Amino acid sequence: MKDEKQLLEEQQKTTGVSRRSFLKAVTGTAAGIGISQMFNPALVQAMQKALKTHPVLWIQGQGCTGCSVSLLNTVDPSIADVLLKVISLQFHPTIMASEGETAMENLYHIAEAYKGKFSLAVEGAIPMGADGKYCIIGEVGHKEVTMVDAMKDLGAKAGSVLAIGACATYGGIPAAEGNETGATSVMDFFKASGIKTPVVNIPGCPPHPDWIVGSIAHLLTKGIPELDDYGRPTVFFGENIHDNCPRLEAYENGDMAEKMSDPKNCRAELGCKGPDTYADCYKRKWNSGMNWCVDNAVCIGCVEPDFPDGKSPFYEPA
Ligand code: SF4
Ligand code: SF4
Repeated sequence: MKDEKQLLEEQQKTTGVSRRSFLKAVTGTAAGIGISQMFNPALVQAMQKALKTHPVLWIQGQGCTGCSVSLLNTVDPSIADVLLKVISLQFHPTIMASEGETAMENLYHIAEAYKGKFSLAVEGAIPMGADGKYCIIGEVGHKEVTMVDAMKDLGAKAGSVLAIGACATYGGIPAAEGNETGATSVMDFFKASGIKTPVVNIPGCPPHPDWIVGSIAHLLTKGIPELDDYGRPTVFFGENIHDNCPRLEAYENGDMAEKMSDPKNCRAELGCKGPDTYADCYKRKWNSGMNWCVDNAVCIGCVEPDFPDGKSPFYEPA
């Protein structure tokens, strides 16, 4: 059996798209460019090859479904294009038509058929308390399947795992102070269970749709992207928000905003956590390039491993 590294090397040989041109395509900085650039003919061809060999199975644990909603908000490319041309998404509890035991059996059938090749996208934390009974995701053979069961089985069979959102990457809100359910991130769950499948962390509460789509496209066409010390793709999470903020000059001059409606002064005293946060929101922007957190409020550091406890209270200075 070929290991994941060999499979990814084979994919890279067949795609014909250089790492450089791929990165250029996904690091777009403003409305109208960026992930939409992925739809150049070479990349479409590359992804069409991957569609046949590399399904993506998306499961949901302890979360609010906000990451899925963020993915569905992708405008350019449209979610229809994403689902039909970028991702062979063969299981997603929120958007698939199939349901109940039939859907669950299909999930396990695909995982077996594509063992070592499929990518498992995980949204939400994994509650390890009470034998996993806090989160039952379905039934197979009339027996309950907990998120813990699914992660042990599907996580071990997958070629790679995408941990999507704050809860799956670092525990997020379910693992915040109190954590009655034993909520655990994918990486910590794998460590505790001895599972060696490679993990790509795509944090955010929620993650930007470009981060999700771009990371999946990279995985399918070029393999595991370059990751930082926290397992995040450096292409999206390599730059500091504060160092690139349009209000940096105001910060350096000591011009501090006293209210959110201030259009130009620095928001550090209103609670901005930009200095401790690494993401490209300042140039990618949200809502199809319309605005971003620092335009309207503050950065609350939602992509960092210590979110939310280490970033709370959100509206007080760090
Ligand atoms: S608003 Fe936030 S990110 Fe921008 S300069 Fe001030 S502290 Fe830094
Ligand atoms: S600006 Fe900060 S809080 Fe807003 S999405 Fe980016 S990292 Fe998260």
